[in-house]
Amino acid sequence: MSTAILDDVRAFVDTEVAPNAEEFDRAERLPRALLDRVGELGLWAPFLPAEVGGAGLDMVTLGRIHEEIGRGCSGLRSMLTVHTMVSWAVGRWGSDAQRDRWLPQLIKGETFGVFALSEPDSGSDASAAGTLAVPDGDGWVLDGRKKWITGGQVADVLLVFARSGQGMSAFLVPRDAAGVEISPIPNMLGTRSSMIAEVVLRDVRIGADAVLGPPGWAAGTVMTGALDLGRYSVACGSVGIIQACLDACVAYTSRRTVRDGQLRDLQLIRRKVSDMVTSARAARLLCEHAGRLKDAGDPATIMASWVAKYYASTAAATAASDAVQIHGANGCSPDYPVARLYRDAKIMEIIEGSSELQQTTIAEEAYREAA
Ligand SMILES: Cc1cc2nc3c(=O)[nH]c(=O)nc-3n(C[C@H](O)[C@H](O)[C@H](O)COP(=O)(O)OP(=O)(O)OC[C@H]3O[C@@H](n4cnc5c(N)ncnc54)[C@H](O)[C@@H]3O)c2cc1C
Repeated sequence: MSTAILDDVRAFVDTEVAPNAEEFDRAERLPRALLDRVGELGLWAPFLPAEVGGAGLDMVTLGRIHEEIGRGCSGLRSMLTVHTMVSWAVGRWGSDAQRDRWLPQLIKGETFGVFALSEPDSGSDASAAGTLAVPDGDGWVLDGRKKWITGGQVADVLLVFARSGQGMSAFLVPRDAAGVEISPIPNMLGTRSSMIAEVVLRDVRIGADAVLGPPGWAAGTVMTGALDLGRYSVACGSVGIIQACLDACVAYTSRRTVRDGQLRDLQLIRRKVSDMVTSARAARLLCEHAGRLKDAGDPATIMASWVAKYYASTAAATAASDAVQIHGANGCSPDYPVARLYRDAKIMEIIEGSSELQQTTIAEEAYREAA
């Protein structure tokens, strides 16, 4: 693990992200200057190898970076997550020409990548996606509708999944391709600053060079790998939420007095605080385990990421609920960060595989192992 970069990220979060997260949440937008700062710090895709311009950062450190950003602002962490997924997909599955065209800009954040899989009528079951890719001369025509696309409002390139005959293919679609229409989705419950959008693809003509990975086989390749990394990032971001809840509660209960004493001296408060400490540590260790397996190239990382995300996201939802409770009415106001953490934590239980999908997948693995 590289600790030098973590010190910089912590300082960035403490001075530029966390103090402004409420404002970002209210504005439902992240300032361009903040996204540029992420680029200056080299955080957009530092895991890519040096030969394509990355820093070759290990996955454990990457996870700790996403935890730190998640501690400050889940909206920014969500943006980092989807951009990470797209950058990874191009690095892993791109042709030489695609890597040359996209990676240098993705690494610097000069091009922002988004992940477009979900649709109005398909979420958990990606195989039900209705967006179509039809061969047209030496290229393709895309038609369909993608919904809930994090960062969609500021996307430069969209990684779009579409049915192409028997299977699913992945396409790198430039934002300015004719027929791409993007509309903001306002007033989301949480991660409100992540500039979510709906994307309509109407007769979008793209060349054969837009296909990423094996045509017809994107589900088991590009999609699976990108979602695994996204799940890992969300797990790490959830650890950040638990840590932020803990920090807020320790500070608040040390100031607030009740019945001639401080809130921190009440046993029932201490129980909640100790649960936050324990779940933050346990979730962090599960993430680190998944990260180590990724660094070792061990396929067991896929299940480790499911487990880490399931545990961390549900623990974050519990921690955030307890944090609001501990803050009483103050916790329900925008004057303290816990209301935002509560709304953001709920989102973590839905994205990158909902808790129910994790429960069924993890149990399935248990039976497979037993057999
Ligand atoms: C803030 C936010 C950001 C997002 N960003 C993106 C993005 O950038 N790109 C993108 O492509 N998508 C994005 N999504 C969409 C997200 O991936 C989906 O919401 C998620 O996959 C769940 O799908 P769904 O909402 O359609 O719910 P559904 O699939 O309709 O599920 C509804 C409920 O049924 C449960 N359920 C579904 N199937 C099963 C099953 N087999 N067994 C048991 N229970 C089941 C689910 O757990 C859930 O509780 C985002 C969503 C949100 C809220």
